[in-house]
Amino acid sequence: MPVKDQRAPHAPKDRLASLRAELERRNPAQPEFHQAVREVLATLDPVFAVRPEFAEPGVVERLVEPERQIIFRVPWQDDEGTVHVNRGYRVEFNSALGPYKGGLRFHPSVNIGVVKFLGFEQIFKNALTGLGIGGGKGGSDFDPHGRSDAEVMRFCQSFMTELQRHIGEHTDVPAGDIGVGGREIGYLFGQYRRITNRWEAGVFTGKGRGWGGSAIRPQATGYGSVLFAAEMLARKGAALDGQTAVVSDSGNVAIYTIEKLQQLGANPITASDSTGYVVDEKGIDLDLLKQVKEVERARISEYAAYRGSSARYVAGGRVWDVAADVAFPSATQNELDAEGALALVRNGVKAVSEGANMPTTPEAVHILQEAGVAFGPGKAANAGGVAVSALEMSQNAARTAWTAERVEDELGAIMRAIHDVAYETAERYGAPGDYVTGANIAGFERVADAMLAQGLI
Ligand code: GLU
Repeated sequence: MPVKDQRAPHAPKDRLASLRAELERRNPAQPEFHQAVREVLATLDPVFAVRPEFAEPGVVERLVEPERQIIFRVPWQDDEGTVHVNRGYRVEFNSALGPYKGGLRFHPSVNIGVVKFLGFEQIFKNALTGLGIGGGKGGSDFDPHGRSDAEVMRFCQSFMTELQRHIGEHTDVPAGDIGVGGREIGYLFGQYRRITNRWEAGVFTGKGRGWGGSAIRPQATGYGSVLFAAEMLARKGAALDGQTAVVSDSGNVAIYTIEKLQQLGANPITASDSTGYVVDEKGIDLDLLKQVKEVERARISEYAAYRGSSARYVAGGRVWDVAADVAFPSATQNELDAEGALALVRNGVKAVSEGANMPTTPEAVHILQEAGVAFGPGKAANAGGVAVSALEMSQNAARTAWTAERVEDELGAIMRAIHDVAYETAERYGAPGDYVTGANIAGFERVADAMLAQGLI
């Protein structure tokens, strides 16, 4: 039957409801993926009304189906010689705008549903950067925590021995995410270079500065999330200067969120890990935090032990109970739930900027938006990391290295542009101040336009 006979332009709502049901049936036990898709589809009605071609069968159906999903065995030996078998993933979700681009996550919680939720988010995030990158994500259920450098190296080499046949600077360009930082990227890139016999800098981003990495890439996600919050506050006639901030986590995103907040005159007073949080009334001592988490790779309680009387450690608690003007969920998916959002609202929070991917549950987003809190969704607010990855690819292609000042200027301009397109799109589609709707529609329009132009593939 020809495609045009299947059109149902007047009932996109009904069709989307059955599409969602079908998606959940065909992808069982993937709750994070269902959540990410639901959250995007729930905001697209206004754009379907104006652009009916986007509502035709085939656009959304293709958008929610990855172009390719790769699952592979990763065998490796620990220092005692015991064999372990992990599972590796790469989901190449959408390449309408450029090569698949997105990080690798090494964490015991990783499964195909988590990788698909992250890859799906990445499509829109990458589109918002305006830098010609498609969406992908990968990783493994390997847990680097407590492993020696030699064990991490052997794991990375085994992982890349399979992954290398699927990636390339014009095909698919991985980077870091939770559990994958400079050390892991070094081992992964080294194995890629060895197997392929190619110095292909553009196949991986987040590389070391001395071998093709970009200035500011480690800082970019955290810096960008703060810049996004500053833009949201500016629209409300406020500034970050003098504001108290709560930040969750103590990984790369959290550390550089704290750094940029301090540079802009705000006072970040918390950091956390999976065991609990610290609140430091004098403001977080960043050198101490870096020493505890990056050098000693110790628990966050050590921060309070070294810091003395201004800091206290709360075992098992969550930072959302600490009173603050702005909040930065920077750990992982669904860490900020309805209870946390209610506590933030009770304490008068003005803005929430997602440094992590989908850290706020749908109920919590609703509570924050209803209370008039400016809410920056991850696919806009944390796009600074992948944006500087795209700048790293540009530098690699030109065999050059930009100064930190130049990269930071570009990052600032990109974050402002993402903020403005999300803000203006929300306004244009009748949802003023709703950055979730604005970011989803703006990202979707760019990807859907490219998909329609490129035909049924
Ligand atoms: N993992 C990061 C993200 O969630 C960065 C991806 C990249 O640089 O490719 O956007």
